[in-house]
Parts: sequence; C-alpha cells; structure tokens
Amino acid sequence: MADPKGFLNHGREVAKTRPVGERVKDWNEVYVPGSLLPIISKQASRCMDCGIPFCHNGCPLGNLIPEWNDYAYREDWSAASERLHATNNFPEFTGRLCPAPCESACVLGINQPPVTIKNVEVSIIDKAWDSGDVKPQIPERLSGKTVAVIGSGPAGLAAAQQLTRAGHTVAVYERADRIGGLLRYGIPEFKMEKRHINRRIEQMRAEGTKFRTGVEIGRDIDAAKLRQRYDAVVIAAGATTARDLPVPGRELKGIYQAMEYLPLANKVQEGDYVTSPISAEGKHVVVIGGGDTGADCVGTAHRQGAASVTQLEIMPRPGEERNANQPWPTFPMLYKVTSAHEEGGERIYSAGTTHFEGDEDGNVQWLHLNEVEFVDGKLTAKPGTERKIPAQLVTLAMGFTGTDQENGLVEQFGLELDARGNIARDADFQTNVPGVFVAGDAGRGQSLIVWAIAEGRSAARGADRFLTGTSDLPAPIRPTDRALTV
Ligand SMILES: Cc1cc2nc3c(=O)[nH]c(=O)nc-3n(C[C@H](O)[C@H](O)[C@H](O)COP(=O)(O)OP(=O)(O)OC[C@H]3O[C@@H](n4cnc5c(N)ncnc54)[C@H](O)[C@@H]3O)c2cc1C
Ligand code: SF4
Repeated sequence: MADPKGFLNHGREVAKTRPVGERVKDWNEVYVPGSLLPIISKQASRCMDCGIPFCHNGCPLGNLIPEWNDYAYREDWSAASERLHATNNFPEFTGRLCPAPCESACVLGINQPPVTIKNVEVSIIDKAWDSGDVKPQIPERLSGKTVAVIGSGPAGLAAAQQLTRAGHTVAVYERADRIGGLLRYGIPEFKMEKRHINRRIEQMRAEGTKFRTGVEIGRDIDAAKLRQRYDAVVIAAGATTARDLPVPGRELKGIYQAMEYLPLANKVQEGDYVTSPISAEGKHVVVIGGGDTGADCVGTAHRQGAASVTQLEIMPRPGEERNANQPWPTFPMLYKVTSAHEEGGERIYSAGTTHFEGDEDGNVQWLHLNEVEFVDGKLTAKPGTERKIPAQLVTLAMGFTGTDQENGLVEQFGLELDARGNIARDADFQTNVPGVFVAGDAGRGQSLIVWAIAEGRSAARGADRFLTGTSDLPAPIRPTDRALTV
C-alpha cells in the first residue's frame, strides 16, 4: 500500500492547464508541461489499496491501478511502467484521452474526490518514454502464421501489437494516408499531440509489425484475396458512418460532418496544408451535438479564430452531482466543462434544430431551433420557442451509426451484423466467418479508446487461439461486456 494516511493528508490535485489566452493561439496540448511530476507521488499516495479495488472493474482493461499507484508513490517508475504495460498497450493514449471510468468507480470517491488515476497513468508512461524504458519487445520465435489487421485505430494497433509479440507476422492495412484512426484524424492535437502515436508506431515497426497505408480493403484489395494471403484477419475498421440531420437546408454550403471538419485541422498540424480548407476563421460557428466530438469541434473553431461558437445539445443539461439512478460506482452522466469549453463559446441545451437558412449563393447563414422537452417520453418542440442564431459554419457531431459498408468489406467477407448493425462476433471475437475476427467500434459500436484497446487485446487472443490452438495472450473483456461504465 502507498501511504496509509495519504488520502487524509492530501487533497486531490490535477494537472494544470495553460492560460486560455495562451493556449488558443497554438495547437499544443493544453497542459502545463512538467507540472504533474512534482505532485504525482503525493496524489498516488491517496490510493487506499482497497481489498476490493473497484477501479479495476471500472476499467475495461482491468488496469492494475493500486499496484502502479504504489510504485508511483515510491517513485519506482520502472516497476510502475511494467505494471502499467501488463494490461495496456498504449497508456499514453488513455492517460490523455480516457474519460476515466476507473475514477468514477474509485472507492475514495464515495465520500471524497477520487484518486487522480489518469494523471498517475500519464506521468508513469511519459517518464517511461523519457527514461528509455519503453523498448521494442521482439518475439523470440516466429510462428510462421500471418495475420492482416484492417484499420489502424487503437483496436487495430492493440491487436497487431499483441499478435506480433506472440510471434505472428502481422500487416496493418489502413485506408487513410497515416496510421492512427481517430487518434490521428479525429482527436485534435490540443488533446493529444500526434508525436505520441508516431513513437508507438516506431516501437511497433521495430517489433516487426508491417504497416500499409492508403489501402482500402474491399476497394483496393478484395476480401477473397486478403483471405488467400493471410491465415487470419482482424477487422478493426471502426464505426465511421456518421449520423446525419436531414432537415430542410441541409444541402447548403458550409454544413459538414465533424469528421469532414476535424481531419483537415489535423492535416494542417501534419504539414499537409497551410490553413484548413474548411476554416472557422471569422465565422459564426454552430456545433450540433453536445458530446466529446462536439467539444473537439468547439476547441478547433476557437483556434481557427471563429467569430462565435455555439454548441447545441438536444438533451437537457445534465446535473453536476450524481443522480439517484447513477450511484457510485457507475459512470455518471454529469455536466462537463472540457478544456474546449473553458476557452469560450455558448452551450444551449434542449435545442432541436428545425432548419437551416442560406444566402442567395447557397451558403448557410442561420440555424433555426426550438426548445424541446419530453412529452410522453418523446422530445417535443415547446410552442413559441422558435428562434434563429447566426451560423456560417455548421458541424454535425451527433454520433456514428456503424461500420462503413460502402466499400464492400462487410459484403465481400459475408459478415453477419448484430441487431445494432455492428459486425456480429462470438465469445472469441470471431465473426461468422472462421478465421475472421472483429475488434473495436466495428463490433462494439461507437465507444471509447479504452474499450478499443481492450477489444484489440481480446480479439488478438481469439486469433492466436485460432492459429495455434492455444494462447497465452490475455483477454480482458468479452464482446458483451458493458461493465459499470460508459
Ligand atoms: C472526434 C472524436 C473524438 C473522440 N475523442 C475521444 C476521447 O477523447 N476519448 C475516448 O476515449 N474516445 C474518443 N473518441 C472515440 C474513439 O476515438 C473511438 O472509440 C476509437 O478510436 C475506436 O477505435 P477503433 O480502432 O475501433 O476505430 P477507429 O479509431 O475509427 O479506426 C478505424 C480505422 O479503420 C480504417 N478503415 C476503415 N475501413 C477500412 C478498410 N476497409 N480498409 C482499411 N482501413 C479501413 C479507418 O480509416 C480508421 O483509420 C472520439 C471519437 C471521435 C470521432
Ligand atoms: S478504488 Fe481508488 S483507492 Fe481503491 S485501490 Fe482503486 S484507486 Fe486506490
């Protein structure tokens, strides 16, 4: 155990963010570099090493949180890193981006602010990279078996790393021009600088994983050819089909899906453009959708110099405290102020968009909305509440409905879908086609990075068992797990 009195002696302190006026002028991560390490040992000392550590159940990866809290308290960073990597291939991603369901489940959270688990995680992994502790783990023997992984988001990368380390020869196919999936082109630089992905890719290359970018399975290589070439396939193609808003005026210029808008801003950071072809500069921006993707659009629009930013959410504003129906240790729906919201803009809740209005050139200028409320369980417009707000750039961030079926991937493999439209799989993450596995958002539906990594690890075990008859790889979750959490 860390310090038995740690939680009595120290309050919760989290990573410091840079002043808003400074950070909206650049795209670097919002945190003050180096501000965590001086406080992290004290923060880790707040962990009570619970007899039943609910944080384990809160985390889909089953992270060994009390163990690495103890090592962080003792400043044994090397041992902490080893424990961290025992369950998580990419703690630098989750340590920056996870909504931390482990913290919602932390026992200390019953009557005190929980342990800063996520900050401890990111401190351990950043320290491990800085000190050269993160090394390639090259397999001692090769199995002679080959695996194709389709998609290079967190699920595909986790599956590929696990299978490569098990001795299989793995190639990752990615239709985009760079590796990383939504980590690369969805999540903005100010939430996670892309250098963190690049150095993991270097580690994976050194371990033997091969990467093929600009290749779309279904279009550039068909399923039959891929199956001939490889002994097993892991599909980690994400759930990239975006939900649309089919209201009058949707066809006007200036209305984009979030995933049309955000990747271009990320491509500016990669050096592909000087300025984004879809820029918010000088425009009144409206983001439709109150979730994390919406918040990413808000932060991006601020940095591009928007005249105003308004975020609309159709549901009522959540409370700031847990509801009775979301008790500890569940993951509660709470009112969140993300770093992007700290930077400005307005948020309107219970807002239903009725239509868009444009100018004579077909450019969107106004968004008309109503206040909505639940009547007999249905969201209904309140009479007399219609108004319009200026909208010269609109981004739709209303979630995703499933994996892309237009490229023929699902049809060519002959894959069955489940009732929610995701690729169906059995307890081993195997689809209805023997030797073809599915992991991440493609099987689970739109979710989180931590679930994608857990799925990738679990599907890798399924594929390893298929290839060799047995497997020493861990499977942190089953396909049906929803846990206590998001
Ligand atoms: C804007 C945005 C912000 C988010 N922020 C967070 C966050 O802060 N924290 C969090 O936990 N989660 C966040 N999420 C969710 C998280 O990013 C996803 O749950 C996660 O990336 C899913 O991982 P995945 O590997 O299953 O799929 P993806 O990351 O979607 O990767 C799938 C990859 O497959 C490729 N692909 C698809 N079809 C083919 C094909 N036929 N051939 C070759 N390649 C193909 C795609 O190009 C893509 O690169 C966010 C999502 C979005 C959209
Ligand atoms: S639940 Fe909280 S206090 Fe208990 S072991 Fe986990 S992190 Fe530590």
